[in-house]
Amino acid sequence: MSDEVLKLIPLSPTYVPDNEILKTAVARVREYFPKAERIEMEISESPQFIDPGSNLERITCPICNAVLEDGWWQDAMDKASENGFRDLAVELPCCGQKTTLNDLRYQWPAGFAQFSIEIHNPEAEDPEAVLPDLADFLGSPLRIIRAHY
Ligand SMILES: [Zn+2]
Repeated sequence: MSDEVLKLIPLSPTYVPDNEILKTAVARVREYFPKAERIEMEISESPQFIDPGSNLERITCPICNAVLEDGWWQDAMDKASENGFRDLAVELPCCGQKTTLNDLRYQWPAGFAQFSIEIHNPEAEDPEAVLPDLADFLGSPLRIIRAHY
């Protein structure tokens, strides 16, 4: 059996609200997903790559739309991991422009974050309905990652 995991992360890779806010946020998320198998919060000391599992089909340039090669991306990830993903700056191989690993166009979406709220098997018709309220509460716009394992 496969698993769906919805991951909610802030747009900024280093944004972490304080603990009390996070705990309340998880309680709010639970109200939106009463049928979810479980809801977890992950916090880390430095940004982590929050992946969409097997839903990651390709990565494209946010500026010229070129498809980025896996090898280039892996090298960039290895380099960024050396400093705990605190510096995500990259120069694009396609058009030579500068951007960050967090701003690449992941299909499906992925991103970097120091906290995530993960909803296992959410069984919700409209999971994005949680976003406006939660973004407001957490004080940051959010990205929703739909992972499949
Ligand atoms: Zn490009």
